Amino acid sequence: MIIDCHGHYTTSPRQHETWRQEQIAAHKAGQSAPPRPTISDDEIRASIEGGQLKLQQERGTDLTIFSPRAAGMGHHLGDASTSEAWATACNELIYRVCTMFPRNFAGVCMLPQSPGVSPRNCIAELERCVLQYGFVGCNLNPDPSGGYWTDPPLGDPYWYPIYEKMVELDVPAMIHVSMACNPAFHTTGSHYLNGDTAAFMQLMSSQLFHDFPTLKFIIPHGGGAVPYHWGRFRGLAQAMKLPQLGEHMLNNVFFDTCVYHLPGQELLAKVIPVANILFASEMIGAVPGVDPETGFNFDDTKRYIDQLPLSPESLSSIFEGNVRRVYGRLSKQLEVQLGET
Ligand SMILES: [Zn+2]
Repeated sequence: MIIDCHGHYTTSPRQHETWRQEQIAAHKAGQSAPPRPTISDDEIRASIEGGQLKLQQERGTDLTIFSPRAAGMGHHLGDASTSEAWATACNELIYRVCTMFPRNFAGVCMLPQSPGVSPRNCIAELERCVLQYGFVGCNLNPDPSGGYWTDPPLGDPYWYPIYEKMVELDVPAMIHVSMACNPAFHTTGSHYLNGDTAAFMQLMSSQLFHDFPTLKFIIPHGGGAVPYHWGRFRGLAQAMKLPQLGEHMLNNVFFDTCVYHLPGQELLAKVIPVANILFASEMIGAVPGVDPETGFNFDDTKRYIDQLPLSPESLSSIFEGNVRRVYGRLSKQLEVQLGET
């Protein structure tokens, strides 16, 4: 089985995003948001069958861990109440997709974060999505300000209420920023990769995994700059008198394979232990174009992994085993679905 742990609903029906614009405009005008649009099952089905499902079939993958569009989370827009209404609408759509295509999609929620607002306000939505919708994880934005980093770093007790709930529910978080509103940063070209790299260093220089030994994070986009600079991080850990980096971080932190060329995947697999690499493509996402050097889409990451000099056991760990180990609730759902118990 091949599980892609990183997919967003980038093809959601247009009226969903239109409502978001109306909601933010209403907030700015001091008015209440209009009622949410009606979205039919047929519209959802068409958006998936012509998009993610089609590519799953073409590329030979089975299941996508699916969440709302990341750049669209826009936690810096509006306030905590607009974030809550938007997260509810986005997560509900993901739930509808997962209900229509239960063998192809497993849900991950966005959280109703807002800059300067305690992550405690996200607990109810996380609980709702996991317990009522059967979601298997969440996306946690380390910078709800959208590129100004005004909230405390991820190792700060400020974030502990949401970590406590994640541990209780046995769900991991993918650490995922949203749209950059700071013009110094391009959203997917710099802010995403900066966010991944900054988050790793925040975690590394904290006591977090001492306090939460079972907390699990996925750092997307191949871990930003981290695997390429693993020696720098090891050296920094040593200078900071931290434990060896592997022992300090790799029971809790995992990297996905959203790296869009073969040399990058080779480096990832050489530097990071296989047990910490999770297959992902983020297809129909940031880089959906065709690479003229290969003739294939940049985000068709399975092709690169298939070319790595790894044993069948290692490949199986990357494609399925590791994802199931990190997303424990997904593994239990699959056991039931596939009759493994
Ligand atoms: Zn993403």
